[in-house]
Amino acid sequence: MRAAPTILHLDMDAFYASAEQAAKPSLRGKPVVVGGLGPRGVVATASYEARRFGIHSAMPMAQARRLAPNAAYLVPRFTLYRTVSDQVMGLLGQLSPLVEPLSLDEAFVDLEAGGVADDAASAREIGERLRTAIRAVTGLTGSVGLAGSKMIAKIASEEAKPDGLVLIEPGTERELLAPMSVRILPGVGPATGDHLRRAGMTTVRDLADAGEAELVRLLGKAHGSSLHLMALGYDDRPVVAERDAKSVSVEDTFDVDLHDRVRVRSEVERLADRCVRRLRAAERSGRTVVLKVRRYDFSTLTRSETLRGPTDDPTVIREAAARLLEAVDTTGGVRLLGVGVTGLADYTQEDLFAQAADALSAAMDAEVTEEAGAEQGPAEGAEEAAEETPEQLAERRWPSGHDVRHETHGHGWVQGSGVGRVTVRFEEPGDPPGRVRTFRIDDPELQPAEPLPLVKDPADYSSWPANRPKSRSGDGSSGGESRP
Ligand SMILES: [Mg+2]
Repeated sequence: MRAAPTILHLDMDAFYASAEQAAKPSLRGKPVVVGGLGPRGVVATASYEARRFGIHSAMPMAQARRLAPNAAYLVPRFTLYRTVSDQVMGLLGQLSPLVEPLSLDEAFVDLEAGGVADDAASAREIGERLRTAIRAVTGLTGSVGLAGSKMIAKIASEEAKPDGLVLIEPGTERELLAPMSVRILPGVGPATGDHLRRAGMTTVRDLADAGEAELVRLLGKAHGSSLHLMALGYDDRPVVAERDAKSVSVEDTFDVDLHDRVRVRSEVERLADRCVRRLRAAERSGRTVVLKVRRYDFSTLTRSETLRGPTDDPTVIREAAARLLEAVDTTGGVRLLGVGVTGLADYTQEDLFAQAADALSAAMDAEVTEEAGAEQGPAEGAEEAAEETPEQLAERRWPSGHDVRHETHGHGWVQGSGVGRVTVRFEEPGDPPGRVRTFRIDDPELQPAEPLPLVKDPADYSSWPANRPKSRSGDGSSGGESRP
């Protein structure tokens, strides 16, 4: 807890969906749903327009389609999201050495440690300049929360959404939290929430009033005490830079699902080696090896194995990861693989706030891979075509929302496919909405393409924030708009 609101939490607004709307002018202002389109697929992100239909992340895709049959349903393009994430994290890294990424589009920043803010006025100014910079560089909006602790900063950015900034003055936390649901507190998931509700506690005020002894009786010593402190607005967790994290992990997202089991095994081996290199570079060793697998339908599994003692031995870690993989069903395709090592330090403190697995998976989500996601050409999957319907083949060869290039018509994206045809809309970021054309799925003039940058000629923020950015006309550096 600090006396000045210099802990910043940034969260991009409906990140994947907003990136798709920026890339595809015809989808601006329309409901857009990004996620797994297979039979067991779930929603990764819904645009604000889609949320009005009741669609939210983690909802089964089939349910989303029933709620909004006319929304655009797109397969994620992680290559693009990673590029934008790198730009955003780069801007944050210029503010402070203490940046703690939670996912591709979310991070805490300690502004005081960066020497860029020491009171409410300077923190607010930096927060607004950050929002302006993010919009100028990425074309997307992010919301900023500022407070004296991580917990309150995250709540503030949630309140600020979309496209806003909320600063919570230290000293007002308790009053702010009192009427909120217990679920707002870190570490209170659905199970704990139910448990508390059965004990008659639904708001944070109920927790504060219940007192520490009662919460300890209900939830045990560690969880009960920490929950009581959080209900009173106390949260002393520092912003932890990635290099000081309690786990080391690497992961790769594949733009085209991996179907071949041998290929999956060799990717896991490669990731294990990369993980060991990072572990050694950090002069650490760890006891628990974790494998993360995201399947084609976005269901994500985390499996771990705890060794007898800490290790940084590549053979041991590679073999543990391989054993974990053997227990995972990968038929249907794999979209993401990750290998991590945890147990690098005592986890007692961490357990107060989150499940170790959650923390690790967040750290893995935050992982910015040094290798562009290994690309797998559509041709490789074609070997299995005999077992697929023509619709499945078309969908795999031309995933909805992915980029294509046509020799005559230029850059476009797949709007849909089926019965031997693929429908493409030809438009680029910054253009007016483009035209739709239909081709045979094996049209030789049509090829998969790389995503285009969302902003063609971004303003130069390389010396930000020390100097005011050299912005192009139209990209005002006025500090941006905010609520409230
Ligand atoms: Mg977000």
